Amino acid sequence: MAIKFDNTRHTFTAPFDESLIAIINPYRTHYHKKKWIGENRILYPKEPVYGNLSQIIGESIFISGSGTSSVEIADGSHYAMVEIVNSLENWVKSYGPVKPSSETMTHHSVYSLVDDAKFVFHSHYPGWRIHDLFDLPTTHEDADYGTQFMAEEFERLLLHNKINTQQRIIIMAGHEDGIVTWGDSALTAAFVMHQYAKKCEILIGNLFRDYEHKEKYLPKGKDISFEKVEEMKILLAA
Ligand SMILES: [Zn+2]
Repeated sequence: MAIKFDNTRHTFTAPFDESLIAIINPYRTHYHKKKWIGENRILYPKEPVYGNLSQIIGESIFISGSGTSSVEIADGSHYAMVEIVNSLENWVKSYGPVKPSSETMTHHSVYSLVDDAKFVFHSHYPGWRIHDLFDLPTTHEDADYGTQFMAEEFERLLLHNKINTQQRIIIMAGHEDGIVTWGDSALTAAFVMHQYAKKCEILIGNLFRDYEHKEKYLPKGKDISFEKVEEMKILLAA
């Protein structure tokens, strides 16, 4: 995956102690099982290794390592500690057995703009492809991950629209099937992500079963073709 910031200020160290990954790693394992993080060359040919999790430890961002999402069960050798993020000059200072995730800047955007964010989860799942049916905070479709434009979009959503920070979710329209959730606990960040997945899955199930009465299930003013519903159904069964 292409790194869009300078990650050369990294000091390689021994793997982190198991106690440091005790909270975050079970979520990572669970998400890998659900394929919300992982590797998929068919769905995501541009960025086949996808998804990353982070938490605040002290003043630093503890985050899954670059290119590690294909690993089924991670351990202390798959994380990095980011001590300094300089978003103006576009570099980070970090240490650990691997370099930090290529999406470190996105995580940093949330932490710097939302006071109570202590955990940030970023994942991809085709079930979320119907985001235009919901009114959720969404970044511009031309904003690619890790770019200055994406950072500006986060700022626009989080700084200038208070409601969004409480929804604890951002849809990344220009980063296929990508979403970011956060919380003051890992459980909150995970809950938001699970809720959204459930919402999409239930809606697709209902529309597939009973498309004739689609207005019963669709949010007001929204529409979706049956072809699209069918396509989603197949994607989710895969
Ligand atoms: Zn991503």
